Amino acid sequence: MLQYKPSLVGHIDRIETAKNSVRKYLGIISIIISLVISSIFFAFQYNISKAYKINLYNEAKTFFSEIVIVRKWIAQHGGVYVPLDKTTGNNPYLEKIDGIKSKIICDNKEFVLKNPSLVTKELSESPFRTDKVRYKMTSLNPINPHNKPDEFEKYALMQFEKGVSESSTFEKRDDKDYFRYISHLVVDESCMICHAQQGYKVGDIRGGISVTLQASDFMTEINKAKIFMVISGLGVIALIMASIWYISRFFIRDLHNAQEALALMASTDFLTGLANRMTGIQALTKELNRMSRKKTPLSIALIDLDYFKKINDMYGHNVGDEILKNFSTIILNNIRNYDIACRYGGEEFLLIMPQTSIEDAVLILNRILEHLKLKPILTSKGNVQTSMSAGVVMAQEAENVDALVDRADSLLYRAKGDGRSRVYGDI
Ligand code: GH3
Ligand code: MG
Ligand code: MG
Repeated sequence: MLQYKPSLVGHIDRIETAKNSVRKYLGIISIIISLVISSIFFAFQYNISKAYKINLYNEAKTFFSEIVIVRKWIAQHGGVYVPLDKTTGNNPYLEKIDGIKSKIICDNKEFVLKNPSLVTKELSESPFRTDKVRYKMTSLNPINPHNKPDEFEKYALMQFEKGVSESSTFEKRDDKDYFRYISHLVVDESCMICHAQQGYKVGDIRGGISVTLQASDFMTEINKAKIFMVISGLGVIALIMASIWYISRFFIRDLHNAQEALALMASTDFLTGLANRMTGIQALTKELNRMSRKKTPLSIALIDLDYFKKINDMYGHNVGDEILKNFSTIILNNIRNYDIACRYGGEEFLLIMPQTSIEDAVLILNRILEHLKLKPILTSKGNVQTSMSAGVVMAQEAENVDALVDRADSLLYRAKGDGRSRVYGDI
C-alpha cells in the first residue's frame, strides 16, 4: 500500500492560493473603500468650501447692487448738494461741465454738488468704514486718478469689454485673506446729465465697482472644515481597514488551520501516525544532501514484518492494524529524536538514521528485533508473537535515494530468504 497522497498536496496548494486570494481581494476591497470614502469626504469638503464662497459672492453682489441703487437715485435727482466743509471739499470735475452748478449758496451757507461718482468715492473712503467691506469705483480711463484699477480690476474691466459682466477672486494681502468682486456699470439716462459731453451713450459699459470683503474668517472656517474632513476621512478609512484586517485574520486563520490539517494528512500515515512514504523519501533526500555537505555517516534500514499475511488470516485485519500501530511505537521507543521512521508500505518500514555508522544502525535494529522476540505484542485478541526482518545499509558518497533503498531491499530479501527474524547489515 503506497502512502502517496498527491491529491492532498494539490488541495494544500489550492488553500495557499485561496489565502493569497483572500489577501488580494480584501486588499482590493480596502483600496476601493478608501477611494470611495476619500471621494465622499473630498466632495463634502468641496461643497462646504463652495457654499462658503457662494455666501461671500452673494454678500458682495448684494453690496454692489445697493451701491448701484444709491448711485441711480443720486443721478435721477441730478446729484445732491451737501454743505461745504473740509470733508466734502469742492469738486474740480463738475466745475468743468456746462449747465451744472457745482456750488450754490443757501441761507448764507455754501453747498457743493455731489454726483454718483463722488458720493460713491467719498462713501468708500469714509473714516467710518471698516476693513470688513470696502469698495471702489474704477474704469480703464478714469476721470478721477483715484479710480485707477489695480491688477484684478484691470483684468476684469478688459473682460467687461468682451461681454463678461462680473468677476471674483480670492486675494492675500498683508497675511489677510480677501474676497474680491467686481461688476460693470451700465450707462443709463440718468448718467447722461453729466456724461453726455464726454460722448457716453445709454447702454455703454463705463467701468465698474469693485467690492472687497475680508475673508480671513471664511478661510479659517474652510481650513477647520478641511482638517476635520481629513481627520474624519482618515479615521473612517483606518477603522474600515482595521475591521477588514481583523476579519481577514479569521478567514486566513481558518484556511491556515485547514492547510495544516491537510499538510499533516498528506505527510503522515493515518494508521500509525508515522511519516508516510512520500515524507520518508523527501526526508531521506534531505539527509543524503546533508551527509555529502557535512561528511557525516548516514544509515538506513528497511524493515518488514514476517508472515504478516498469516497473522491477518489468523487474528483478523483489525488485529493486524493493532500490531502495525504497536510495532510503530516499539520502533519510536528504540530510536533517537533525530532518527526518522516512516511507514514505507503495508507492513514495511523505512528507518533513516543520520550521523549513524552501519555498526550502530545494526545495533539499533537488533534491539528492535530482540524486543519483538522477548515481548509478544498485546492486542485485543491477546498476545501475538511477531518477528521482523531488516536490511541495514550505510549511504555511500553520491549515492541516490533509489540506489540506497534498493541495497537495503536486497539485504532484506536475503534476510527473508535465510529464514526471517534477522537483521542483515552491509556498508
Ligand atoms: P513475509 O514474511 O515474506 O513478509 O510474508 P508476509 O505475509 O508478511 O508478506 P506478504 O507480502 O505476503 O503479505 C503482506 C501482508 O500485509 C498482506 C497484507 O494483507 C498485509 N497488510 C498490508 N497492509 C496492511 C494494513 O494496513 N493492515 C493490515 N492489517 N494488514 C496489512
Ligand atoms: Mg512481510
Ligand atoms: Mg512486505
